[in-house]
Amino acid sequence: MTVAEVRKRYLDFFAQRGHAIIPSAPIVPENDPTTLFTSSGMQPLVPYLLGQPHPEGTRLADAQTSFRAEDIEEVGDNRHTTFFEMLGNWSLGDYGKKEEIPWLYEFLTRELLFPPEKLWVTCFEGDESLGISRDNESAEIWQSLGIPQERIRFYPARKNWWSRSGIPANMPTGEIGGPDTEVFYDFGTSHDPAFGETCHQNCDCGRFVEIGNAVFITYKKTIDGSFEKLAQQNVDFGGGLERLAFAAIANPDIFMIDVFDEARHVLETKSGQSYENAIATRSFRIILDHIRAAAFFIASGIRPSNTEQGYILRRLIRRSIREADKLGITEPVLAAVADGFGKAYEDAYPFVLASAAAIKDELEKEEAQFRKTLTQGLREFERMGQQIDAFILFTTYGFPVELTVEIAAERGISIDLRAVEQKMAEHQARSRASAAQKFAGGLADHAEQTIRYHTAHHLLLKALQMVLGPEVHQRGSNITSERLRIDFSYGQKMTDEQKTEVEKIVNEKIRESIPVLRTDMPKEEAEKLGAEHEFGATYPDTVSVYSVGPLDNAFSIEYCGGPHVANTSELGEGGKKFRIMKEEASSSGVRRIKAVLE
Ligand code: ATP
Ligand code: MG
Repeated sequence: MTVAEVRKRYLDFFAQRGHAIIPSAPIVPENDPTTLFTSSGMQPLVPYLLGQPHPEGTRLADAQTSFRAEDIEEVGDNRHTTFFEMLGNWSLGDYGKKEEIPWLYEFLTRELLFPPEKLWVTCFEGDESLGISRDNESAEIWQSLGIPQERIRFYPARKNWWSRSGIPANMPTGEIGGPDTEVFYDFGTSHDPAFGETCHQNCDCGRFVEIGNAVFITYKKTIDGSFEKLAQQNVDFGGGLERLAFAAIANPDIFMIDVFDEARHVLETKSGQSYENAIATRSFRIILDHIRAAAFFIASGIRPSNTEQGYILRRLIRRSIREADKLGITEPVLAAVADGFGKAYEDAYPFVLASAAAIKDELEKEEAQFRKTLTQGLREFERMGQQIDAFILFTTYGFPVELTVEIAAERGISIDLRAVEQKMAEHQARSRASAAQKFAGGLADHAEQTIRYHTAHHLLLKALQMVLGPEVHQRGSNITSERLRIDFSYGQKMTDEQKTEVEKIVNEKIRESIPVLRTDMPKEEAEKLGAEHEFGATYPDTVSVYSVGPLDNAFSIEYCGGPHVANTSELGEGGKKFRIMKEEASSSGVRRIKAVLE
């Protein structure tokens, strides 16, 4: 079954059940400067989920082109792409669980012909402290359809609750949310114990892949922190089209679906390597994903630049060029790869093929430019040894900072992003002062958000020590404008309760609006204060220390060069909340957390 067939069957199925089929919103959201890209089918529909009447009625369905920059590092596994289509159907105060779950089941088993035994599901386990009961109703509906109890598993809010602010505790008064039920396809591949002792729906080893998620928007948070049922209860279903399509061909590799065929073939021919060759697979996947996204971006009017969406596009293209280089492809190749996508989407998104000339032109320009400096830049990189200057590599050789960080990580070198940020900020200030053209530093445009993440990093480390014990210390870190990552010493997987507690502490400190202060002092004094320092680092006699709160009453004190926000309240601007996205093993005795402010 092809991607086009899955999309058509889905939209027809819901049209037959009274849904208006609405067009995909643009990949760059209209009238919303707070986000760069549309990242789900639900996103453009939020006003209607909040109660505004939709002109097309109370039953809607669509296929929404979506982009998730935060998944960029996941690309290379068997199921993540940055760009994908999300199939969605909505009930705006119309039908509920009793319709949604049986329809979903019918669509999967009768339209896509999934063998029922391949389907596993999850439901919300409830939270007594909030007065929200376990979602037995959804589980019973699944059972009545033939999904046995062993394939239904209950998870807490972290996995099976949706609200714009995450778990119930993080929701502000008036916010809406509710439990969800997720459907997983079992590819039946053997379990990889690196991901945990046993395999289950939410295990990341690749056997189970989430193909869809139905949210039952049922509750509103009241002023006293309790939850009341909404007058208009909504259903919001989102399922990855590509995920459904690779399940439909029962091939546990998302890049084997038909829309990638021609582009994959181009890469095989030009590199002389087969996709199945283990070393090449990851590079192939990155190029296939990134150039498909790039083709849609350029066709949508985005151009490579050093700011906003244009910077993300440049990052995708330049990262692809490096991967092509790794594959031994020395001639320009991206335009030919993109060509394959114009054809693959000729019927569903004719604007991509119609923009073929612009796509070719932009990719060729970018490839010619970056190929000129790539080899020299890599040579310069090697010459720098352990002292990698990402600022020079960006300004002189055009290496997006994230690319430098990635190359460094491959060689076990970590980069002081804070120092890069500072140089970028200074450079930006200088260019402003000379009234020269607007500074072209992608990072600088994201600098504010990166600085917030840096401060959140300090709050997080302290909160981890409070919850897990004082023996927890930092073992590594990596901060971008999209998220923060910390590696820390701790021997076990954190429980959901511990994660929730850590989030709570960090969000409390954000709410308390605590000043963040820098003090320079002799090293011995910092030691006496018990300032947190980096493992294995050596420091000069005078050190600078950042404290959250005044030194004599600080929440956290760390040796650190900055930069930081002036006050923790800046982390919560625009109603943002701190949230742990992932907690996993990094190496023996070291755990890794990825977290966001959103
Ligand atoms: P996962 O945990 O697998 O990364 P998710 O929980 O982030 O998925 P949702 O936010 O629930 O996904 O999005 C709804 C659906 O969109 C998912 O069920 C999945 O089918 C699809 N989807 C989400 N992220 C991706 C991605 N990076 N690539 C392809 N499909 C995706
Ligand atoms: Mg999900």
